Amino acid sequence: MNAHAPVPAPSPIRTTCPYCGVGCGVLATPDGKDGLAVAGDPDHPANFGRLCSKGSALGETVSLEGRLLHPMLRTRSGSYERVSWNSALDATSEGFARILGERGPDAIAFYLSGQLLTEDYYIANKLMKGFLGSSHVDTNSRLCMASSVAGHRRAFGGDLVPGSYEDLDLADCIVLVGSNAAWCHPILFQRMLRNKSERGAKLIVIDPRRTAAAEEADLFLPIAPGMDSVLFAGLLTRIAESDALALDFVVRHTSGFSEALARAQAIAPDIATVALKTGLGENDIAAFYDLWLRTEKTVTAWSQGVNQSAQGTDKVNAIINCHLAAGRIGRPGLGPFSLTGQPNAMGGREAGGLANMLAAHMMFTPSDIDRVRRFWNAPVMAKKEGLKAVAMMDAIAEGRISALWVMATNPAASLPRAGHVRDALAKLDHFIVSEVVLSNDTIASGAKILLPAAAWGEKDGTVTNSERRISRQRAALPLPGEARPDWWIIQEVAKRLGFADAFDYPNAAAIFREHAALSSFENDGARGFDIGGLAELSGSDFDRLPPTQWPMRKGAVRGDERLFANGDFVTPDRKARFVGVAPPALALTPNDEFPLWLNTGRVRDHWHTMTRTGRAPRLALHRGEPFLAIHPDDAAQYGLVDGELARATSAYGSAALRVMCDDGQRRGEVFAPIHWTEETSSNGAVGALVQPTTDPFSGQPELKATPARVAPVAVDLYGFLLAREPVDLPRDIWWSRLALDGGCGYLIAGPADLFETLRARLPAGESADYVDGRRGVARVAIFSGDRLDAALFVGRSQQDGAWSAARALFARDAIDEAQRRNLLSGFAVDGAASDGPTICACFGVGLVAIQSAIAAGKADVAAIGAHLKAGTNCGSCVPELKKIIAATASAPKPAHAA
Ligand code: SF4
Repeated sequence: MNAHAPVPAPSPIRTTCPYCGVGCGVLATPDGKDGLAVAGDPDHPANFGRLCSKGSALGETVSLEGRLLHPMLRTRSGSYERVSWNSALDATSEGFARILGERGPDAIAFYLSGQLLTEDYYIANKLMKGFLGSSHVDTNSRLCMASSVAGHRRAFGGDLVPGSYEDLDLADCIVLVGSNAAWCHPILFQRMLRNKSERGAKLIVIDPRRTAAAEEADLFLPIAPGMDSVLFAGLLTRIAESDALALDFVVRHTSGFSEALARAQAIAPDIATVALKTGLGENDIAAFYDLWLRTEKTVTAWSQGVNQSAQGTDKVNAIINCHLAAGRIGRPGLGPFSLTGQPNAMGGREAGGLANMLAAHMMFTPSDIDRVRRFWNAPVMAKKEGLKAVAMMDAIAEGRISALWVMATNPAASLPRAGHVRDALAKLDHFIVSEVVLSNDTIASGAKILLPAAAWGEKDGTVTNSERRISRQRAALPLPGEARPDWWIIQEVAKRLGFADAFDYPNAAAIFREHAALSSFENDGARGFDIGGLAELSGSDFDRLPPTQWPMRKGAVRGDERLFANGDFVTPDRKARFVGVAPPALALTPNDEFPLWLNTGRVRDHWHTMTRTGRAPRLALHRGEPFLAIHPDDAAQYGLVDGELARATSAYGSAALRVMCDDGQRRGEVFAPIHWTEETSSNGAVGALVQPTTDPFSGQPELKATPARVAPVAVDLYGFLLAREPVDLPRDIWWSRLALDGGCGYLIAGPADLFETLRARLPAGESADYVDGRRGVARVAIFSGDRLDAALFVGRSQQDGAWSAARALFARDAIDEAQRRNLLSGFAVDGAASDGPTICACFGVGLVAIQSAIAAGKADVAAIGAHLKAGTNCGSCVPELKKIIAATASAPKPAHAA
């Protein structure tokens, strides 16, 4: 008998990373076991085959553990019961119809997400604004780039990002403002570093924190919070006095220069004033200005440090003003460049999925409303702007909105004043969540209907990245359980509401064609967003659509048109507008009760509320728990100790966080990451602390400067717990959960009875105990045959060595007798080896191994890479490796050394 015919290897599916706005191309190959092997797409122009630590670990995040696989309804007892799709969709539409009938369109809202595909956004926006008559459609992109949208609109007449990634390869000077691109846009940052090393481009980083990006800078400006506009107002005045002023461009292609300059001169009359307001040294300011003025090919790129501000729009315009004054826009290698945070924030902007936009870059003017009405053949058009995210939650709290549909996002964790948001959501009469996970903070706030949505790897449609490049997300895995694409779910509800004729799309391609057609409908160059050239794609053309940059007008062969190349903007007079910015001032300032500024942001290896990255063990240990970064002198002043716990408190809430002393923090400012939630920690969700103040133009909340105080948390014992399944831990102890190979881990801290409290929650099994009362150490390991099933270790310190070693044994299918014996007793010996935080996520290389390699003479990144492989794959850890090398080199040698 012949041998089985060889099974052909599955072909990789070309798709796009679901995390940051770089929008890297991914090759995803099904492994035949419901998983995916993932590699960078060498042909994608965003990344040319490279992926960062998050993208590289995508294959580890597609398991069905914790997935919402069936529609569910909340019962009176608060539990959820499975129902049919028909029942869930009927209940969803009936609730909206009832509240519309009783209270009108202002009582209903959708809250969307930059994780949705453009087709999802388009159909949700169309249903709400054209058929239900409400414009309360907002999105978590309000937290991400709304200030850039408003700034672009004020300056250019439309939300048009002039930059392309190739500009970062061609620039001679790159200025990063409020952007830790090394961690938040890693693949782009590596392009910048390549330009720096190969072409000698200069890198300037402006940020209150000395971030990983700042470590690579030729010039780092640790600016005071909120003072970016002062620095750029000062730059505008210098441009006006110098040869860098492009007078011809200013006269022919702009308006408002004199007024904006006068405002800038009032804010920043001289360098001494700029220095006083920004906290920067006069020499550093002068060096920045000189470099900017003499370097024609300068890109000024910004991200959330600019956007997430109560004056974010003014900051954006202060930057754009400088580029307009110097005529540095619309040409290769230069220009203002907003780096979008989310994978499809740009697609949402195109579709109009924001409360203050109508659709396809049209606004709520009578002519735009009429145009969209005719295109959609819409019965009930929304006529005015809706409520933006923070105001929407206030309206819910006050009962003005009583029906909300949340799609693919977690506002109960991510919005400012998160406790207030949770309380508001609990009041909703009709509360629907479309999700991929069974539970999160938003669902726990009382969602009444759960609709199982397709996840990344299963979805099919398009996303648009920071450089306006539309890429396909393609399905590489089948839809699990009863999960359905978001567009399908919205369409089924629309049909039940009586709009079957207008919502009859057979697939995502059909929605995309309509979206493209609307962009060019009666456009004639009035709107910069025009992809009419894609409006007649066949299904197979859509399947094969390569990454395409817009505009892509009808008849265009390629979509690589450079915006503003001819000095032609989309304002009524076709001129760009200078904008006079307000004197910078933070909305709230520290006081006796709250003497510090709390800044929030992302870490390298996690994304938002960790529903995906939190599943990948290799992403868990770089920053494994919610922390508070604080300058060592501030820590000493407030009685905090590195590695112990602190409580950070604002006027809105509080969180308990691990203290991380960091001399990269400015004094008086602390930083905490946004990723931990009520699901993944006992009290590590920092959204609860953040102020709700918003920018008057963009509605974007101030997430970077909330007055707060810190104090030590009294704890008797620290330790960790390992378990194969999540354990229900009480909230009156401190804990933080993370994914590990083979299960999950908890870092814990609590009172003297911590061990007894948690011992009772471990699974049953053969156990071995170790107690050393004199040292306060108590440990138990639970076995199932040869396998370590659970472990609980507590002591008076965190026991880093035991934590590293126990994790290693926990990851094995079996451990031998010697390992079993040493598991408890071996760890009783002080000094058991710790590998420290994971620095290289790709190869799992910890800080201790890197320090040892440096001590053994591996003096640069290349040598460490050759020795440990660290930094040789995605490169995301390279800035940190350099920092460790520098810190080790400058550390005082022990007396016996040398
Ligand atoms: Fe994904 Fe990283 Fe690329 Fe961002 S830089 S799109 S997170 S692989």
